[in-house]
Amino acid sequence: MVDFVSLLGVKGGPAIRPGSNMPTSTLIHIDGKNFLVDTGLGVSRSICDQGVELNEIDAIFITHMHSDHYLELGPLIHTAWVSGRVKPISIYGPKRLKHYWRAFLDSMVDDIALRIEDEGRIDLEKLPTFYSFEDRQFLSLSNINIRVMRNLHPPILDSFALRFEWEHYSIVLSGDTAYMPEMIDFADQADLLIHEVMLSEGIDLIMNRLGHEDDKLRNHLLQSHTLAKNVGLIAKCAKVKCLALNHFVPDGFAEFNDEDWLQAIRRHWSGKVILGRDGIRIPL
Ligand SMILES: [Zn+2]
Ligand SMILES: [Zn+2]
Repeated sequence: MVDFVSLLGVKGGPAIRPGSNMPTSTLIHIDGKNFLVDTGLGVSRSICDQGVELNEIDAIFITHMHSDHYLELGPLIHTAWVSGRVKPISIYGPKRLKHYWRAFLDSMVDDIALRIEDEGRIDLEKLPTFYSFEDRQFLSLSNINIRVMRNLHPPILDSFALRFEWEHYSIVLSGDTAYMPEMIDFADQADLLIHEVMLSEGIDLIMNRLGHEDDKLRNHLLQSHTLAKNVGLIAKCAKVKCLALNHFVPDGFAEFNDEDWLQAIRRHWSGKVILGRDGIRIPL
């Protein structure tokens, strides 16, 4: 299989509805290795749809603990396990993730005990090893270097952007973040920048559609996500070679089409842009 990135889920936020994309997950296939960034709802099915066995995931990275990024982490590991996985798996993310894993194991204790006893499976608890992200961390897995940068996603503090580098190639994932000038340096001359995106015109529509009566959600969106025009600005200032958009806010609203997103991005960015859709594969 040649190297690729697949945007498995590109919707921002945890809700799904008819016609919407699925919450966020990204599969990076480099040099025979499979790295998964985030595990939003639907991720297990989407990995298989890419022709990749759950047994073939080499490491998982969770950018932060909003459910649209890790709701299916436990079910994914459990499903890999019942699909025959005995190989350990490394999981990198916020330090609270191991509490989630502990609680997931507790919630499934009856099933897990049965399958160990009845089917002779290994102890599920021993499958993953958790590692906590730190700001400005530098990881090296095989011949892939991974840089970690804390991004700007209040009120969550442990939220991170990632940069994968190998040979002469680089991919940057913004994670969920408000506009931050530091992202320009972090994404400097990346071959592919995968950035979250929000359309300002969509915010009122979200408020109406979801029936929110106070401004809490509106304020959260404005303080914690990046408007499309600013995503274009980052791509331009960082001189990236290709910009791919994910984590669309809003997503699945018939009121907006591709042209609306492109127009907002084009305010500053005239380079190559890919509008993410669930399951699209970007060859590297
Ligand atoms: Zn999100
Ligand atoms: Zn988030």
